[in-house]
Amino acid sequence: MVDGVIAYIGIGSNLGDPLWQSREALRHLAVSSGIVLQGVSSFYKTEPVINDDIPRKAPDSQEWFVNAVAEIRTALSPRGVLNALQLIEKQMGRTRDFKGAPRIIDLDLLLYGQEVISEGDLTVPHPRLHRRRFVLEPFCEIASYVIHPAFGVSMRGLCERLDDRKAVLKIQN
Ligand code: ATP
Ligand code: CA
Ligand code: CA
Repeated sequence: MVDGVIAYIGIGSNLGDPLWQSREALRHLAVSSGIVLQGVSSFYKTEPVINDDIPRKAPDSQEWFVNAVAEIRTALSPRGVLNALQLIEKQMGRTRDFKGAPRIIDLDLLLYGQEVISEGDLTVPHPRLHRRRFVLEPFCEIASYVIHPAFGVSMRGLCERLDDRKAVLKIQN
């Protein structure tokens, strides 16, 4: 497929077998209709970050995550991509217990071309992408040159300005 938009997907898991589930999510993405999986970062073992935007009932300590970022080319709309991601989460058995709960799999639409979307249940670029080391480190590994359309700064630039000091450790294969 030559047409379509390049988009980036954040993958995360901290329940069950996070590395296996992250790989399984990639297998699902690779066979999703309207999506071509073009690239993927290494997997990273990452220290949990409490989301400071939304009050959570999350316990103080959670298991560490496995995180990665995938590049796709897609003929789907941004909402179509979100629907595809939520379908994969459902097929893999994700339950939504409470905000910030440990999860089998979490798939976020980080970026969709250079589009800026704010529709309540769909915000692109992902609203917390720019302040999360566990997203930016893997993102920079595969596409450090990509510009954040709201800030006009590259992923490399965002990574260099990060305040987030949580550990993000590349898993060696
Ligand atoms: P965070 O968004 O801080 O990473 P989370 O991934 O744990 O937290 P979820 O419970 O998975 O949050 O998702 C909450 C809602 O976020 C979803 O119902 C979805 O509609 C909405 N949402 C808005 N923008 C996006 C996006 N770009 N990618 C994925 N979900 C999004
Ligand atoms: Ca998330
Ligand atoms: Ca999510």
